[in-house]
Amino acid sequence: MYCPSCSFQLTQSSSYCNRCGANLNLIGTLTSSHRNRRTLMLWLWVGVAANVVILGMILGSLVLMKDGTIAGRLGTAFAILASLSLLLIDGLIVWRALSGTRDINKRALPVN
Ligand SMILES: [Zn+2]
Repeated sequence: MYCPSCSFQLTQSSSYCNRCGANLNLIGTLTSSHRNRRTLMLWLWVGVAANVVILGMILGSLVLMKDGTIAGRLGTAFAILASLSLLLIDGLIVWRALSGTRDINKRALPVN
C-alpha cells in the first residue's frame, strides 16, 4: 500500500503516513465519498437517457395513433404503460439519489 498523498510505500496498516503524516483514514473516507458521487451522477444520466427514450416512444405512439397506423386503444394502452414505467424509473432514481446522498453525508462526517 502506498500513501495517496506522498506515494511513500507503507509497510504496515496505520492511520497516519510515516513520511508526510497524512491521515490515511480521512483520505480513504474522501475517496469512498467521491466514488459515491460518481455513481450518483451515473444514475442521474441513465435516468435522463431513459426519460428521453420513453418520452420519444410515447410521442411516437401518439403520432402513429393520429395517422391511424395503430389502433387507438393499443396506442392509449402503450402510452399509459410507458408513462407508468417512466414514473417507476424516476421514482427509483430519486430513491437511489436520496439514499446515496444520505450515505455520503454519513461517511463524510469525521469519526473522531
Ligand atoms: Zn505520505
